[in-house]
Amino acid sequence: MENQLQIYNTLTRRKEVFEPLHPGKAGMYVCGPTVYGEAHLGHARSAITFDLLFRYLKHLNYKVRYVRNITDVGHLANDSDEGEDKIAKKARLDELEPMEVVQIYTNYYERAMEKLNVLSPSIEPRATGHILEQIETVEKILNSGYAYESNGSVYFDVEKYAKSNSYGQLSGRKIEDLQANTRDLEGQHEKRSPLDFAIWKKASPEHIMRWPSRWSDGFPGWHLECTAMSSRYLGETFDIHGGGMDLTFPHHEAEMAQARAAFGHDSVRYWMHNNMITLNGQKMGKSLGNAISLNEFFSGNHPLLEKPYSPMTIRYFMLTAHYRSTLDFSNEALQAAEKGLTRLLKALDVLDQIKPSDKSTIKVQELKADCYAAMNDDLNTPIAIASLFEGVKMINSVVDGKESISEDDLNVLKNLFPVFIFELFGLEKTEKGTSSNSGAFEAAVDLLLDLRMKAKANKDWVTADKIRDELCKLGFVIKDTKEGFSWELKE
Ligand SMILES: [Zn+2]
Repeated sequence: MENQLQIYNTLTRRKEVFEPLHPGKAGMYVCGPTVYGEAHLGHARSAITFDLLFRYLKHLNYKVRYVRNITDVGHLANDSDEGEDKIAKKARLDELEPMEVVQIYTNYYERAMEKLNVLSPSIEPRATGHILEQIETVEKILNSGYAYESNGSVYFDVEKYAKSNSYGQLSGRKIEDLQANTRDLEGQHEKRSPLDFAIWKKASPEHIMRWPSRWSDGFPGWHLECTAMSSRYLGETFDIHGGGMDLTFPHHEAEMAQARAAFGHDSVRYWMHNNMITLNGQKMGKSLGNAISLNEFFSGNHPLLEKPYSPMTIRYFMLTAHYRSTLDFSNEALQAAEKGLTRLLKALDVLDQIKPSDKSTIKVQELKADCYAAMNDDLNTPIAIASLFEGVKMINSVVDGKESISEDDLNVLKNLFPVFIFELFGLEKTEKGTSSNSGAFEAAVDLLLDLRMKAKANKDWVTADKIRDELCKLGFVIKDTKEGFSWELKE
């Protein structure tokens, strides 16, 4: 199965066959969270996208080293070189030590990832644990002549770099447009050009997070940490660098420039970017009032949510779209995903009950090939899921006696479904760590309503009415339907 995986390389803007630098091994670096706020959907999409890649590479028998960093210093509030460090700002507002802020939100992030069944990366380095490597990288860039010192800070010289390199190659921007669009912000007098970015920043007297260097007591620029830590753990050249599409500029463009300046060549062989998430067709953001944290999705505790959505519903919903497409979250779409996931998981139980025949009338090998072809086509999960649902149809036809399946083919399906659903998609039958054990809860309500049906069948109207009335008092809405009953819990 090796060497059939194609991934879309943002740098070349086409799908390329994945050929690792070292046969049988794969190195991947993904930009992790800046830990100053609760984990949200954007974090989940990036984490799930690259978790899928991590899982699939391992499934293809690669020995994978997956590095995902934690940004705990240096990411300034306006993403340029002025303003406060995001973590220091949160620390000041909440009257905490910056490292307390880092710990609180790192814990939030780790717990949310665990609920989403995102595997831990092989290495999770922190920017503050790699100040020496970052200082060394600044020295390398200074030695190459692509950076200059100014008033205790060190800036990357974008204009000089752009004379012999294409700055904007990754993000598809033109240096002329960038030059035309840069405003002269206050405090930029230290820079030769507004496009230049800090790789070392002198700390102002009130700045708490600071380290000594030969230029000043200061802190590294945000873009620098990923160059320093990826080369530290994966080497100066490595296979895959991933992240959200919003990071292509300036973050990844800057990383690419830093690597060329420091090492004299590109570090990254395949750049991969996941697309963004919208909510009810709108961009999400704190200022728009629609930024919902993952915990709020899990608890349903937000005015825009009709009910709680389990981590597995969120994970499954993300996989129903290709990672390079935008994905719109809405109550309607999530509730549809919830039903889809239930149907898919039910098929696993049905598979266990199937009795094989002498021969198959269904095309199981083709189904398997379709599932792998979809994954090999730049991790096309919506197509793989559609193929699995073709499989669900086949399974149901066998159960109905309309089709038959041989023992060999049945074994193929019994392997294929769990491999895709659990091992690759990372879905689980039972939810981990959710506040309500919704499966048991639903089963208990169903049980009561079944008893009510039996009471009605026995013309025991007193018991039937009592069950209905008591459930209504507890906030349930019960409807009698053709199939029996349906219920929901009023908010
Ligand atoms: Zn990064």
